[in-house]
Amino acid sequence: MAADPDKYMKAPITRRQDYSPTLWSVWMNPPETLAFKAGQYVAFGVENHDKVLERAFSIVSSPYEPELEFFIEKVPEGALSPKLYELQAGDTVFMRKKAKGVFNIDVKSGHSQHFLVSTVTGIAPYISMVRTLALDLKEGRLAQPFRLVILQGVSKSNEFGYDRELIEAVGQYPWLTYIPTISRHWEDPEWSGERGRVDDLVRKYADTMDLTPKDTTVYLCGNPGMIVNVRDIMRRCGFEHAAIKEETYWAPGEGEVEY
Ligand SMILES: Cc1cc2nc3c(=O)[nH]c(=O)nc-3n(C[C@H](O)[C@H](O)[C@H](O)COP(=O)(O)OP(=O)(O)OC[C@H]3O[C@@H](n4cnc5c(N)ncnc54)[C@H](O)[C@@H]3O)c2cc1C
Repeated sequence: MAADPDKYMKAPITRRQDYSPTLWSVWMNPPETLAFKAGQYVAFGVENHDKVLERAFSIVSSPYEPELEFFIEKVPEGALSPKLYELQAGDTVFMRKKAKGVFNIDVKSGHSQHFLVSTVTGIAPYISMVRTLALDLKEGRLAQPFRLVILQGVSKSNEFGYDRELIEAVGQYPWLTYIPTISRHWEDPEWSGERGRVDDLVRKYADTMDLTPKDTTVYLCGNPGMIVNVRDIMRRCGFEHAAIKEETYWAPGEGEVEY
């Protein structure tokens, strides 16, 4: 097997939770600690024709947690995600020993408001941020006042994954707001929350929640089509390029999907 032991470690899956036929979370317990910051990602994958077939995945867990957690979507025609979907507790993946990425909470600008927009699994880095900030505040590592507004768009309500955790967190933390929205509401008659894509709602929430360029950083994560649309909307609202952080999960123009 060609996996270079200097670059990869074998990480066992300890637990798995399914939300829908294509969305699930996994927990892993790698043999070496992976140093990372909330919002970063790590690449992992499986052995395939004597190579590691790997992709990047945002880390859901906080750096303070003992295990690594990921929220994954099976892309039916994809090379890796259908293989990952087959894996159960006890199976292993080859994981890079280094986490990467600069999609972290902006502490440089001095902005006190953070508008976090995502499609489906794009919620992953925001969960890590919420868990980390909550602990940092509780344990006195963070004094600066801030507000996080999370907007998550999916097609149907069984695709949120972390809605329960976020709703509970909103009840505990006055600095957090969570707005889940579904686009295929006609298939989800029980749903009484927001309807429409995040693209349709960002302007409304930016205005009503006073998320202005003066003190707000915008974060966009997930579907490339959403990222392009929302970036343009926020730019028209007066947000500077530097105040919009992006994590694009796949190349624009490829794999157009509903969200
Ligand atoms: C920084 C970063 C973080 C990421 N974090 C996550 C994460 O937390 N969870 C997660 O599930 N994925 C995440 N991704 C996407 C992930 O890396 C893979 O692209 C995804 O798992 C599909 O891989 P694949 O090999 O199955 O598909 P591929 O064979 O690579 O791609 C097949 C086709 O599907 C498109 N595609 C890729 N992903 C999707 C998708 N989600 N929906 C629709 N079409 C898609 C591709 O552009 C291509 O056209 C992240 C990507 C990046 C760059």
